[in-house]
Amino acid sequence: LSKTTMAVDGKQKVVITGAGGRTGSLVFKKVLANPTYDPVGVVRSEASKSTLVKDTGVADSQIIVGDILGSNGAAVLDKAMAGADSLVIATSAVPKIKPLSLIPVILAKITGKEGVRPKFTFKEDQMPEQVDWIGQKMQIDSAKKNGVRKVVLVGSMGGTQKDNFLNTIGDGNILVWKRRAERYLIDSGLDYTIIHPGGLKDDEGGLREIVLNVNDIFLDDKTGPRSIPRADVAELCVQSLGMASRRAFDCVARAVGEGTPTTDFKALFAGMTKNCDYSDMDADETLGRL
Ligand code: NAP
Repeated sequence: LSKTTMAVDGKQKVVITGAGGRTGSLVFKKVLANPTYDPVGVVRSEASKSTLVKDTGVADSQIIVGDILGSNGAAVLDKAMAGADSLVIATSAVPKIKPLSLIPVILAKITGKEGVRPKFTFKEDQMPEQVDWIGQKMQIDSAKKNGVRKVVLVGSMGGTQKDNFLNTIGDGNILVWKRRAERYLIDSGLDYTIIHPGGLKDDEGGLREIVLNVNDIFLDDKTGPRSIPRADVAELCVQSLGMASRRAFDCVARAVGEGTPTTDFKALFAGMTKNCDYSDMDADETLGRL
């Protein structure tokens, strides 16, 4: 380790963006509890900061407030990233439900009609193209500029399926933009771990067997596990800080009681020898490489 990657007390500084989010806040807390690391969280609002400070008791200086897409977004990122060893990216465009679309959903419930779903939208300037592509690209650029060694990115399963339902939400093509940021990270030269969780649940972590695979193979298996607790994803992120170098994989978790709860993450990572394939994007000029 170079001097610049060490905090004064010898701990490695880990920046967590989206630290006010549901997975990001769990990553922040796990990093805080780990004696090797010292977290710095980036959150979008003062309210998120207050919640995190109240929940964890960290110093004010360990949480930086800023909209990554705002006018001072790059400066916020550079401030957070200065002297950091690693970055965990847990930002994502957040869809909002269209309230009026709930009326047909409620009516469908009453009449027993199936397949009626609520409609979602994104704020105009916070679409997946902006948050998941531009915003994550900015984070990767800032990490590189500031000498950050490792980037752990929380993406999503489904990225190989252009017609995946998640892409239709708010006309956002969220998986397309996430995948573009992932390929940008791979091409950046930084060390990385890209984690694609299945459906996220708020269940307790550490109770399930985590299973890894690649290229959305889990989605082809209609009877196998397809979801994972956010707490288990957060644990994968923290473990990836010191392992899983230049890796990209999908993850799900078996039901509690099925299989053995995962404790040996080194064996878990070593057991999946394949990496997700991004070669379909080789000719993608929008990556800014050409
Ligand atoms: P989440 O709670 O939606 O958190 C996302 C965070 O990103 C929020 O805290 C949000 O801030 C922050 N953010 C968004 N735009 C920002 C900006 N411009 N500047 C600064 N911060 C910004 O996340 P989650 O549900 O735990 O999901 C974690 C990841 O897993 C996401 O990438 C998600 O897409 C992915 N995923 C989700 C599912 C699922 O089933 N939901 C499945 C697979 C993968 P605010 O708190 O201010 O909004």
